Amino acid sequence: MVDAEGLVADACPTANGMPVLGLGTWQNTDPEQCAESVRTALETGYRHIDTAQAYDNEAYVGEGLAAADVDREEIFLATKVWTSNLGYDDVLETARESLDRLGVDYVDLLYVHWPANAYDPEETLSAFDELYDEGLIRNVGVSNFEPENLEVAVDVLDAPIFANQVEMHPLLPQERVREACAAHDIEVVAYSPLARGAVFDQPEISEIAADRGVSEAQVSLAWLREKGVTAIPKATGEDHIADNWRSLALDLDDEEVAAIDAIDETSREVDPDFGPWN
Ligand code: NAP
Repeated sequence: MVDAEGLVADACPTANGMPVLGLGTWQNTDPEQCAESVRTALETGYRHIDTAQAYDNEAYVGEGLAAADVDREEIFLATKVWTSNLGYDDVLETARESLDRLGVDYVDLLYVHWPANAYDPEETLSAFDELYDEGLIRNVGVSNFEPENLEVAVDVLDAPIFANQVEMHPLLPQERVREACAAHDIEVVAYSPLARGAVFDQPEISEIAADRGVSEAQVSLAWLREKGVTAIPKATGEDHIADNWRSLALDLDDEEVAAIDAIDETSREVDPDFGPWN
């Protein structure tokens, strides 16, 4: 349903209870702005917010959650444990600190941010199991896991892995990761779903956007949704927040999806040396 301002109200589909369009907050570190972005998103209709210990904004995200007129239970809130905090005791301690900063009793999803640095499958994941059993985290997630990392984690964890958050967009379609996730019933969450702006310069995407009278951002997000993937574009101001939300009203046809699938340019925007693919 699209209202008079062209915004889709109450219409975000969910995957296993997770809204398939969320708000990213990396680099949204100005306290007032970050809180304002989160509040604006929630009031636009977003019910999925993504942050991380490493973003240094959990407290501001928490202020945005508190300022919006939306019940906590309606919001799917995700954060991530940074790589230096992945020892057993540090996971338990810093996860509680994250909850305090966010001003909540639980998060809906807690991710291992990267399988790197202090990550040790047995140590790290047994702490995640404990947080899960205590009800402080409703779901266990991993991020930047390659299929090989996933296999190990699936074996070690008692709790199910709910989601693997990886970079994904038309210039990085992640077929291998998606297949591995599907084999274990793990949701894929696409970070940098706009390729941090790089999709705006793709002629195939611009052509579809012009034909449909929508933005390139919406085309990229609709393509991800068509793949059964959840997207968490970062947007700061109301215009981008609303533009991305409108992607929920865009259904690409088979020909459009095929044209995007056929893009042969590849780009990985987030590629630190400690990435497990390096
Ligand atoms: P992104 O969402 O692909 O792109 C964000 C950029 O696009 C920002 O510069 C934003 O500008 C702009 N933008 C957003 N909507 C737009 C629109 N409709 N039209 C034009 N420009 C638009 O990149 P990202 O921030 O890297 O990824 C999204 C989220 O994924 C992050 O914020 C974070 O939550 C998560 N993430 C996770 C990891 C991980 O390791 N797990 C890594 C990277 C990112 P404004 O800010 O000015 O609106």
